[in-house]
Amino acid sequence: MNLITQLQSMRDLPDEQLHSLICDESATKALAAAADLVRREVYGRDVYIRGLIELTNYCKNNCYYCGIRRDNREVARYRLTHQQVLACCEQGYGLGFRTFVLQGGEDPHFTDSVVCKLVDAIKTAHPDCAVTLSLGEKSKESYQALFRVGADRYLLRHETANACHYGQLHPKELTAENRKRCLFDLKEIGFQVGAGFMVGSPYQTAHHLVEDLRFLQELDPDMIGIGPFLPHHATPFAHEHKGSLTLTLRMLSLVRLMFPHALLPATTALGTLHPDGRTLGLQAGGNVVMPNLSPTDVRELYTLYEDKISTHAESAEGLNALKEQVSLAGYEIVTHKGDVKRK
Ligand code: SAM
Repeated sequence: MNLITQLQSMRDLPDEQLHSLICDESATKALAAAADLVRREVYGRDVYIRGLIELTNYCKNNCYYCGIRRDNREVARYRLTHQQVLACCEQGYGLGFRTFVLQGGEDPHFTDSVVCKLVDAIKTAHPDCAVTLSLGEKSKESYQALFRVGADRYLLRHETANACHYGQLHPKELTAENRKRCLFDLKEIGFQVGAGFMVGSPYQTAHHLVEDLRFLQELDPDMIGIGPFLPHHATPFAHEHKGSLTLTLRMLSLVRLMFPHALLPATTALGTLHPDGRTLGLQAGGNVVMPNLSPTDVRELYTLYEDKISTHAESAEGLNALKEQVSLAGYEIVTHKGDVKRK
């Protein structure tokens, strides 16, 4: 029996045992070591890179945790133009990026037709690249239009699987039910789908985290984005505690053990929480990093939380520094599309 088959039993652990592992601070290192064995069995030492392009910080939503929420009047709003996005891709392509992630607030300016033109232009210029979208909740018809024009992947964290907890993090017009509906629609359409959640968001309990893992089992996504909650001063959660480093690492490891094939980023939020956060995230089971390719003058405007870090991997020097950091951690950045390896 190989390692992965043995560890499949993680998926069958009863809720109480999962709950105990989530709460057990002393299990952090052992879980990371086991998760690392699994990631090496499936992905070897490879770390996939995705070039993140922060399309817009306009957002019609008012999520209580997010720095670009509609009611934050302190932030200067921006939108990248079609040409600016293509220029970011061009620059990223030259450096070796083969996946571009267009992420942004839910900005009514970016209609289906505007986003479709953008995706089409990127795929025409770079047919060997994957385009990932992370633009929030849409109708099934909109997702279908984006898929038809060539978008490959869609990231939409479910945030929390518990409907009541969801209601504590969002205003009432946003529901867990619709968020989940979007994820199942995206899957049915054929996107490679990413879900995920923040660790340590206000009111979160370990029982909620067990529910998150169970929801992920039901959805079976290709990508799972997990990062700590970090407060932002201009939100209702300004004075809440940040998520814990070790709990985030345990959740990453548990996810790797339960989903051996998942694409699992060591997130910017983890790197912001702790200077070694990204490295620790890779060593706890992560196999993806998403450096920022957005134009440097807008980066500080896409502040979801305080003190967001940047790797400066949009420059050859910056990318080399990141490669060096990843290699010191025991892994290697590879520059292909980086599709999920399904069973
Ligand atoms: N609008 C799109 C959406 O809803 O998926 C994408 C942009 S949204 C800002 C991207 C992710 O940022 C969210 O899914 C959320 O988990 C994360 N995020 C927002 N505020 C955060 C905070 N204060 N701390 C950590 N992560 C945060």
